[in-house]
Amino acid sequence: MVQKRNIGLVAHDNMKKDLVEWAEYNKGTLSQHCLYATGNTGKQIIERTGLSVMLLKGGPHGGDMELGAMIANKKLDYLIFFWDPLTNQPHDVDVKALLRVAVVYNTPTACNRATADLIISSPIFHR
Ligand code: PGA
Repeated sequence: MVQKRNIGLVAHDNMKKDLVEWAEYNKGTLSQHCLYATGNTGKQIIERTGLSVMLLKGGPHGGDMELGAMIANKKLDYLIFFWDPLTNQPHDVDVKALLRVAVVYNTPTACNRATADLIISSPIFHR
């Protein structure tokens, strides 16, 4: 039996297509874990995949901070965060805070599809 992990999912607007496609491709594995996502990212994942996702606030409205708080409280095991490297974000301070706290708590974090693939193919997700 697979041990359920808590996975945070968030993507900036230009990166949502990538994350939604990744979630669709990995739907079978992701369906065995608990998924948390910022509002719009989560809605798109649900629409496309039918996966069960706990919706947090929209990223710029506190969703990134909710994920950060989960990490600080040891409630999140993995963070998949496709941030946009080419566009300024109005909530850049929240983006930085989330990435910072993920490092502080040594949380495995994927900021692109290659790393997300490495994380999801880890044996930890399959046992
Ligand atoms: P969203 O938030 O999923 O609500 O769009 C993502 C973000 O911009 O942090």
